[in-house]
Amino acid sequence: MSLTRRELLKFSSIAAVALAATGCSLTEPTSENPESMGSVGMGTPAELAETDAPKVVIVGGGWSGLSIAKYTKKFAPNAEVILVEQRTEFMSCPLSNLWVVDAIKLEFLMHDYLQASRENNYTFFNATVVGVDKTQKIISTSDGDIAYDYLVLAPGIDYDYSEWTSDPVLERRLRTEYPAGFKPGSEHISLRNKVLDFEEGNFILTVPSGNYRCLPAPYERACLIADYFKKEGIEGKVILLDENPNITIKQDGFRSAFEKLYGDYIEYLPGSKIINFDLDNKKVETEFGEIIEFADAAFYPKVRGSKLLEIAGVAKDSRFNKMEADINVFTYEVNGYPEIYCTGDARPMGFSKSGNTANTEGVYVAKQIAAKINGKKEMPAWESPLTICFSAVAMEPILAISINAGYAYDEKQKAFGFTDVYANEKWDGRVGKNNGKGLMEWAKGMYRDMFNA
Ligand SMILES: Cc1cc2nc3c(=O)[nH]c(=O)nc-3n(C[C@H](O)[C@H](O)[C@H](O)COP(=O)(O)OP(=O)(O)OC[C@H]3O[C@@H](n4cnc5c(N)ncnc54)[C@H](O)[C@@H]3O)c2cc1C
Repeated sequence: MSLTRRELLKFSSIAAVALAATGCSLTEPTSENPESMGSVGMGTPAELAETDAPKVVIVGGGWSGLSIAKYTKKFAPNAEVILVEQRTEFMSCPLSNLWVVDAIKLEFLMHDYLQASRENNYTFFNATVVGVDKTQKIISTSDGDIAYDYLVLAPGIDYDYSEWTSDPVLERRLRTEYPAGFKPGSEHISLRNKVLDFEEGNFILTVPSGNYRCLPAPYERACLIADYFKKEGIEGKVILLDENPNITIKQDGFRSAFEKLYGDYIEYLPGSKIINFDLDNKKVETEFGEIIEFADAAFYPKVRGSKLLEIAGVAKDSRFNKMEADINVFTYEVNGYPEIYCTGDARPMGFSKSGNTANTEGVYVAKQIAAKINGKKEMPAWESPLTICFSAVAMEPILAISINAGYAYDEKQKAFGFTDVYANEKWDGRVGKNNGKGLMEWAKGMYRDMFNA
C-alpha cells in the first residue's frame, strides 16, 4: 500500500538524520533559505495528492514508459499511475532522420505529455529521478520524493564511449562536436544543422557493435543524407563505417539502395572500427590502418542501459552491452525485487531496441502489473514483443523498406531470436511508395496510441 504524506515526512527526517550521522553533505539550511535542507531529492515529499490506491510509478516518458502508463491505468483503473519524466515535451526518434534532411516538419515529431496524461487518465510528473530506495520503496526526484507500490524503470539508453577512448576530454569533444543523434533533442538539432549547412567532402557516420538502439537507423540515415546531397547538388559523400561485418538488418534493401540510388554518394565500409580520432585535423583511423578525412561527422558509439539503472542498483552487463537491466527476461521483474520492473531499450534481451518493440512489450508488462493489483492468482502468459520497423531510403517521394518480427526463446542458447519474420525490402516502384506511406501511417498510429493525438 502507498505511503501517506505523513509517513513520507517521517522517512525524510530519518533519512536526514542518517545522512548527518554518516557525514554525507546536505544543502544546509540558511537564514536566506530556511527550506533548503533536503529540497533536492532529499526527503521532501513531492506535491502529489494523497491516496490509498495502489501506486504505480513509471520512470521515463519514452515509448516504453508512455505505453506502460496508459495500459496499466486501462487494465487496473483503480491504480494511481504516475509517469515521471525529465523532459517537458516528447520528441520522437522514429522518423527523425526525415526531419534531419528537411523532409518532414518538426511538429510531426513533437508531442504533448500533458495531453497523454489527460487522455489516458494518469499523472504526468515533470522531474528527474536521482535515487531509488528499494527497501523503503521510495524514489527521490529533483522535485521531491514519491513512494511506490510498483515501480517501472524505463529510462532508455546512455552512450558507452569506453571502447573508443578513456580520455574524458576526447569523449566530451565527441559528445559535443560530433553527437551521435540517437537521443532526441539537441543531438538531433546539431545533426540537422550539420547536414543542412554541409558544403563538400566526407560526412562520416558510424554503426556500433553490440545491440545498439534501432538497428536500421544508421543505414536509413546514410540513405537520407545521401539523398539530400544528391538533391541539393552537394559534392559530398557519406562514409558509413560499420563495426559489424555486414549490414545488421534489411541487408538486401539497404545494399541495393546504396548501390542503385547512391553509388556516388555512399561509401559503405563494413568491419571498420575506429581506433584513433584526430579531431583537430579531422581524421580518423580504422582497425585496418585506413586514415579517413572528414568535413563533418556524427559518431555513434556503443550503447548501454541508462545510468539510472546503476543509481537504482539494478544493472549488470548483458551479453551485448555493458550495464543493462538485471531482470527476469520473461516477467521484466528486477531480480530480487518483484515489485520493480525494467523495460524498453534498457532491457538486456536481444530484442531490437525499437519503439514498436517497447510499445508492445509495454502492453504485456502493464498486464503483469495489473494482474498483481487486481489480485489475480495466475500471471498472464509470456507474450512476445513485436518489432515492426519501416525505414526510409529516399525522401521525395518517401520510399521505404520494412520488417515485421516476433521473438522466441531458444532453450539451448538461453537467448531470444527472431521468429515469424516478414521482410519487405523492395524500395522501388509502387511497393516502395506503399512502404513509404506505411511508415507515415505507422508513426501516426503510434502517436495516437501513446498521446491520443
Ligand atoms: C534516429 C532513430 C530512428 C529510430 N527509428 C525507429 C523506427 O523507425 N521505429 C522504431 O520502432 N524505433 C525507432 N527508433 C528506436 C526508438 O526510438 C527507441 O527504441 C525507443 O525510443 C525506446 O524507448 P524507451 O522508452 O526505452 O527509451 P526512450 O524513448 O529513450 O525514453 C526514455 C525516457 O526516460 C527519460 N529518463 C531517463 N532518465 C531519467 C531520469 N533519471 N528521470 C526522469 N526521466 C528519465 C528520458 O528523458 C526519456 O524520455 C529510432 C531511434 C533513433 C535514435
